[in-house]
Amino acid sequence: MKILIATDMEGITGVTTWDQVTPGHAEYARFRKHMTEDVNAAIRGASDAGAEDVIIADGHWNGSNILIEELDPRARLNTGSPSPFSMMEGIGENIDGVMFIGYHARNGSPNAILDHTWSSRTVANVWLNDILTGEYGLNAAVAGQFGVPVIMVSGDQTACAQVTELLGDVETAIVKQASSRFAAECLAPDVTREMICMSAERAVQRLAHGDVPEPFVLDTPITVTVEFFTSDMADRATRIPFTKREGTRVSMTVQEMASAYNGFRAMVMLALG
Ligand SMILES: [Zn+2]
Repeated sequence: MKILIATDMEGITGVTTWDQVTPGHAEYARFRKHMTEDVNAAIRGASDAGAEDVIIADGHWNGSNILIEELDPRARLNTGSPSPFSMMEGIGENIDGVMFIGYHARNGSPNAILDHTWSSRTVANVWLNDILTGEYGLNAAVAGQFGVPVIMVSGDQTACAQVTELLGDVETAIVKQASSRFAAECLAPDVTREMICMSAERAVQRLAHGDVPEPFVLDTPITVTVEFFTSDMADRATRIPFTKREGTRVSMTVQEMASAYNGFRAMVMLALG
């Protein structure tokens, strides 16, 4: 069995502030270590359940957060940016299941640590067809194009709830209970690592038995719609051919999810200016 562990940082053990996930800030050094250890716990669980090959995608910021010198040697690490599949680098038809580690809720969510959708400065909302979603939905749909299901998520209670609402009964490891965007009741690393390891193990066992939710496959053609915070952001995003604009919403319609993902990333990059 081959597993892709797609990672982010906002839903990592103990994280509650931007400083903790921002390279260059003093606090960041502590939390990239925690990110590495949350990921190692998932590798341990997946391997214990029989996964022979584990690929990691470092999906936060510039994709250079996980400390390779502390990485479980059973895994390989996709790191650096830009990569063709970004937060899902390593996805393909040979992957059997995807895990989301350190994930966060979509922008605008109550009781959600550092809730945002891809870019906290530009993106208010994202829809795939008519489904309001966050990074978890974009990334799950990319896996869906390759026929791969998401089988597990770790993060706060709201991130885990949004993933299960969209995808069904995936394994969850709730490492903190958020009470606002910047406050949560956090479990200690010794506790969360055990939870993540157990969830990952159960997820791979369930995958082996065919007892996991279906891959997230969108109806085609796929329309991706981005609502930006301001008009100038929408102005810049509409420089991409074949986009449509309504107010601060810019959309494009394409034939497959990989193109929608590229188009979405291009719109956000342009909007940033
Ligand atoms: Zn992130």
